[in-house]
Amino acid sequence: MTTPTLMDKVAVITGAASGIGKDIAQLYVAHGARVVIADLDLTAASATALQLDASGARAMALQMDVTDEAAVEAGIAEVASQFGGVDILISNAGIQIVGPLDSYAFSDWKKMLAIHLDGAFLTTRACLKLMYAQQRGGTIIYMGSVHSKEASVLKAPYVAAKHGLVGLCKVVAKEGAKHGVRANVICPGFVRTPLVDKQIPEQALALGISEDEVVSKVMLKDTVDGEFTTVDDVAQTALFLASFPSNALTGQSIVVSHGWFMQ
Ligand code: NAD
Repeated sequence: MTTPTLMDKVAVITGAASGIGKDIAQLYVAHGARVVIADLDLTAASATALQLDASGARAMALQMDVTDEAAVEAGIAEVASQFGGVDILISNAGIQIVGPLDSYAFSDWKKMLAIHLDGAFLTTRACLKLMYAQQRGGTIIYMGSVHSKEASVLKAPYVAAKHGLVGLCKVVAKEGAKHGVRANVICPGFVRTPLVDKQIPEQALALGISEDEVVSKVMLKDTVDGEFTTVDDVAQTALFLASFPSNALTGQSIVVSHGWFMQ
């Protein structure tokens, strides 16, 4: 029998109680990893961890608000003490608040940037410190979006933050290289998760079109086949990136979007 690809690697996945992060956690456990379901929602994180491994040996729930410096530092320290370090960070927690720029609330702008960018920075810093000290390398994967490359109306802070992650990733790739730490961004197209389901009626209202039209004329209009990207498409990409063996693949962003955006 061959050894599973991620055997005993410790993966911290933020926002893993739902959607994309949850699917990545499931696939990582199936490939031998020990996963930390780090999420704002402890009830959902605990249910996910229990579902993945009732014994607690391969899945642990961690309540963590990625925008809270003290919570991130304490959370990653707890992972180090319970699981013996961190090999993979998936910075994935995210929300969406849509609206036109001319009336966009400053408080919503700050909230969006705090979760997507401050959260990525704080979790990166905490994990990098550990990865450098452990001297066994590591991998950081940021959940970007096609909006790391493209813009859409009503999504100014999301587009700004997702573009920002590409810059952060490139610096991590440069600074981390001598410690064997790689960093990459996954840029999915639209995936049917609670984050997207919430946007459909909101966009219909803001654009004055039906919900079906939001799907066909806004979300999937530029794909090659009119299909949503799936959580599994994204998880398989996260598995490939985490298991890649060298610095040849670092500082990159990989678009998984049914051809919506082509580099
Ligand atoms: P989701 O709503 O299903 O899951 C997001 C999770 O993040 C939730 O469990 C939520 O509790 C958690 N979370 C929110 N704020 C948090 C905080 N401050 N600290 C910790 N956890 C927090 O969403 P999803 O669609 O799975 O999105 C995951 C990531 O993928 C996001 O970064 C999103 O921008 C990105 N993304 C999603 C899509 C899509 O179409 N769904 C496309 C491209 C990129």
